[in-house]
Amino acid sequence: MPKSILIDTTVCTGCRGCQVACKQWHNLPAEKTKNMGSYQNPQDLSFNTYKLVRMNEQIINGRLEWLFFADQCRHYLDAPCLETAFDKNAIYRDDATGAVQYTKQTKKLDADEITGSCPYNIPRQAPDGTLAKCDMCNDRIHNGLQPACVAACPTGAMQFGDRDEILELAGKRLAKARKKFPKARLLNPEE
Ligand code: SF4
Ligand code: SF4
Repeated sequence: MPKSILIDTTVCTGCRGCQVACKQWHNLPAEKTKNMGSYQNPQDLSFNTYKLVRMNEQIINGRLEWLFFADQCRHYLDAPCLETAFDKNAIYRDDATGAVQYTKQTKKLDADEITGSCPYNIPRQAPDGTLAKCDMCNDRIHNGLQPACVAACPTGAMQFGDRDEILELAGKRLAKARKKFPKARLLNPEE
């Protein structure tokens, strides 16, 4: 049974705990950033940032609203990058978890072709030519742990589990969210 991650944006506070936990678990360095006039930091995903809380400040009905989204790889069941690569030594799916994995062999792929195939602009190229992205913390999952981002989330916005359980939970969360936000909808990358 493939695993899935649910991100419930209605209870995300933009704390960035998930972003930091991902860096910590993967031993990734901080980005050099500067203030660009908003709370967005860093500005985008990179080969050193697999998980990024996107922060949008918008005026809605005359009120300033902060809209947060904890962005990362969607681990598609039919992953376009995997289908484009045609090289299982470079990009493969772990059938036990459903996690799409990138290896050092991605260096041999056409980086523009792979990044261009991703509808969410997730994979990023490192200076050594390899491609990098969220690996769903596949090593943690195989050791009975949740992905680091999910384990760090203090509000329950991020949830992890078997795909059918997560889809059921998503349906319940959506029904609850629609009482307050009638236009709320489920963005399932498989639909
Ligand atoms: Fe990062 Fe792991 Fe979460 Fe992916 S699943 S965003 S690799 S912490
Ligand atoms: Fe949102 Fe949870 Fe990430 Fe904090 S840890 S930014 S609440 S998803």
